[in-house]
Amino acid sequence: MILIDGATKRFGANTVLNGIDLRIAPGEVVSVLGASGSGKSTLIRCINGLERLDGGSISVDGHDVSDPTQLQLARRCSGTVFQMFNLYPHMTALQNITLAPMEVLKVPRREAEETATALLAAVGLAGHAHAFPSQLSGGQRQRVGICRALAMKPRYLLLDEVTSALDPEMTAEVLEILAKLAADGTTMLFVTHEIEFARQISSRVVFLDQGRLLADLPTVQFFAADGGLAQPRIAQFLSKMT
Ligand code: ATP
Ligand code: MG
Repeated sequence: MILIDGATKRFGANTVLNGIDLRIAPGEVVSVLGASGSGKSTLIRCINGLERLDGGSISVDGHDVSDPTQLQLARRCSGTVFQMFNLYPHMTALQNITLAPMEVLKVPRREAEETATALLAAVGLAGHAHAFPSQLSGGQRQRVGICRALAMKPRYLLLDEVTSALDPEMTAEVLEILAKLAADGTTMLFVTHEIEFARQISSRVVFLDQGRLLADLPTVQFFAADGGLAQPRIAQFLSKMT
């Protein structure tokens, strides 16, 4: 369980997260929607401890991310994929994927490579294990990024606009992988601007507005005229996006 309780984050005078309460249970697929600047990325960064909270708390499977002695344990529970492919450019796809399992989890090389090979095959990149990031398309790189996160066998997958730097065709490739992971029961919290995709794969939709959680509803209810759409701010946002 990811437990977010009154999470507050400020950058100077700017309150970017304003008392967010949210819980993500195993098996849930939760999408986070909201306008640019509403705090979506900051929320993801606070969950994996890349940013420190100014108030409230976040714990991942009982490990408090604000406690330096528990942060590493909390981080091991989740894998994060960002908008920009943050692969190591001097390493092949396979090396990018096996690095953390070998270094952090002390998985033997052979086993790590077997896992990585299976993950690459699962995302349609069986033939690209020895390619360097510069030799891959954006969509292929992002699929390697997803494999790299999955290689750590995280309980939660955190995704921050993983398709927003991609063209429509590459976006479709990556969304297909995410839909497959969701169908397989992977717990996911994903920030996206792909409203239709969020509608199709998420069990719940969370809407952030200026650092506040304006809605946290089952997907069907979020998109219902008498549900999320009854809130003018949400209706306005969705009308602009579609
Ligand atoms: P987008 O859809 O554009 O990615 P977002 O919802 O992810 O937006 P955040 O990146 O979380 O928004 O930013 C929320 C607010 O916090 C913005 O006003 C942003 O300028 C501010 N902010 C984010 N990171 C920092 C930082 N490191 N220092 C100062 N301000 C920051
Ligand atoms: Mg963002």
